[in-house]
Amino acid sequence: MTHSFRNIFDAAERLGEVELSNPLDVLRRVWGYPEFRGMQADVVKSVISGRDTLVLFPTGKGKSLCYQLPALCLKGTAVVVSPLVALMRDQVEELKGFGVAAGALWSEQPPDEASEVKRQLRSGQLKLIYVTPERLAAGGFETMVGGGGISLFAIDEAHCISFWGNNFRKDYLSLGRLKEMYPDIPLVALTATADAHTRKDIVRLLNLSDAAVFIDSFDRKNISYEIVPRSNPRSQLLDFLRPHDGESGIVYCLSRKKVEETVEWLNDNGIRAKHYHAKLDPAVKAANQDAFRMEEGLCLVATVAFGMGINKPNVRYVAHLDLPSSVESYYQETGRAGRDGLPAQAFMVFGMQDIVQRLRMIDEGEANDQIKRIERAKLNALVGICETTACRRQSILGHFGEVHPGGCGSCDTCTKPIETWDGTEAAIKALAAIYRTGERFGVGHVIDVLTGKVTEKTKRFGHVDLAVFGAGKEFNASAWQSIYRQLLTLNLIRVEHDEFGAMKLQETAAGVFKKERQVNLRRDRSVSRGTGKTTDVAGASSRSGLSPDDREVFEVLRQERLAISRELGIAPYVVFPDTTLVAFATRRPQVLEEMLEISGVGQTKLARYGERFLRALQTAVR
Ligand code: ADP
Ligand code: ZN
Repeated sequence: MTHSFRNIFDAAERLGEVELSNPLDVLRRVWGYPEFRGMQADVVKSVISGRDTLVLFPTGKGKSLCYQLPALCLKGTAVVVSPLVALMRDQVEELKGFGVAAGALWSEQPPDEASEVKRQLRSGQLKLIYVTPERLAAGGFETMVGGGGISLFAIDEAHCISFWGNNFRKDYLSLGRLKEMYPDIPLVALTATADAHTRKDIVRLLNLSDAAVFIDSFDRKNISYEIVPRSNPRSQLLDFLRPHDGESGIVYCLSRKKVEETVEWLNDNGIRAKHYHAKLDPAVKAANQDAFRMEEGLCLVATVAFGMGINKPNVRYVAHLDLPSSVESYYQETGRAGRDGLPAQAFMVFGMQDIVQRLRMIDEGEANDQIKRIERAKLNALVGICETTACRRQSILGHFGEVHPGGCGSCDTCTKPIETWDGTEAAIKALAAIYRTGERFGVGHVIDVLTGKVTEKTKRFGHVDLAVFGAGKEFNASAWQSIYRQLLTLNLIRVEHDEFGAMKLQETAAGVFKKERQVNLRRDRSVSRGTGKTTDVAGASSRSGLSPDDREVFEVLRQERLAISRELGIAPYVVFPDTTLVAFATRRPQVLEEMLEISGVGQTKLARYGERFLRALQTAVR
């Protein structure tokens, strides 16, 4: 062991005893990150100075560090409120991985585990204690924290306090009292929820009117976006998943039935997939969630029940087989990809049926008329993004009030610009077919009529004798699907779900018949090519930037990481994130000191795993 390495090792063991005062120094020594990211440095300064602070960063910008690092610099123990036990345990495991003393307490914790954590807390060993809001409300906390007292309060996922969002938690409301009870202890609230209404709620309900507010851009540059018209969703999904072989990702479906069917189908097609939905047996649910965390290359097919608890940084893709309810949901769900900053993909198939289904859900829902109107408007905004011919990133960010110049280069409309065409003639035929069949039929049947398909139904209703029968043979069925979908978003037609999806003309359609109005349509790729093949959006995987040689080394390192993770029973990313392995593979450090220069290698991890990865590197490059 070299002399300098000995020093490093000693330092790691002393961590927590020494006075840690310079934030950048702490960042480098504990986390091994060379620099703060974005606004982190300013937030950390604000919290350390004792100010209440509100942090609004998108997922993946590094919110956790904004309270974890001050916790190490301040005297005492930081109390972190988090909504989910799974999330708390993840964070504690990650912190321990960096050599930081942390623990978690919640109401239904096994008693011996809880008393051990309380013992450590009382003796002042812990720099951070994670608690659920109900455990905090149960009280007695200040007496449990050892001599150093409480250094700060951090409220993670602070949007849970707002009734407005979809993650409202009643127990969060009791957190409003913290500021009255502990006026002198700094409180930092953090969320990735962008909308103004939720922000206002957080400030009001947590009494944060004097807080310093930090809002970072919500652009997730490393995520590429692709939304394709639904033709054959299963093979479209398969085409999308193939290049992600060996990587982890999430596929969202609306119903639990579809989740189960999709998993079965993916497994039959050689893609390792597991399922997750609210009605699943709790043991299976926990096992599948755990598998997603611990394993690599697993596709988790889920309903939106799988969400907030996902801390995994190397989710490489999020695919939607059904339309989410709003742009907010879409952004939150896709945002679970690429927390580690490496390239990640968001992919969605979208069809007319999605809109009909969502509208039906709204109409059949229990909400009052005013809320239903809001829900319809939210759905429309998302459909607008699906149908846009402009840069998708620009449209999405615009929805959140952020100006983006467009031309992002990593969304499908940028990489393969959408053509538009004068679809007035086609629209007239499409509208006429609805009218002539009596505004009583769904899109499938009306398209059969237009394309001249003789079926039991077209015969029974005498539609084979209409002038419109076969009048639209110049396009195939999927092209007509696209046209009807656009007529719906252009508000020229509507769909009655209580009449089994019958299409009806809106009054505005008259202007099209009279040719007073031109109808510009986007030329969907499935229209021009006659296939539903997905397009490649640049930056498919974390390995994509690597040369074949480096990629081989990366795979060896990944195996080593997996072996360590199994031995220690911790998630692979807790050993080292992919970004660190990529740097090992490209820079190939030969001694421990060189490893320390790589982002993600702090002193504790160097001491624990450095030698093993050096050896793995030596075997890999031999
Ligand atoms: P958020 O809570 O905002 O979604 P996290 O706190 O989970 O983000 O951080 C996302 C990832 O970025 C984590 O893997 C974290 O370790 C890493 N990270 C955070 N800050 C930095 C930094 N300054 N340099 C490098 N990586 C960072
Ligand atoms: Zn773009």
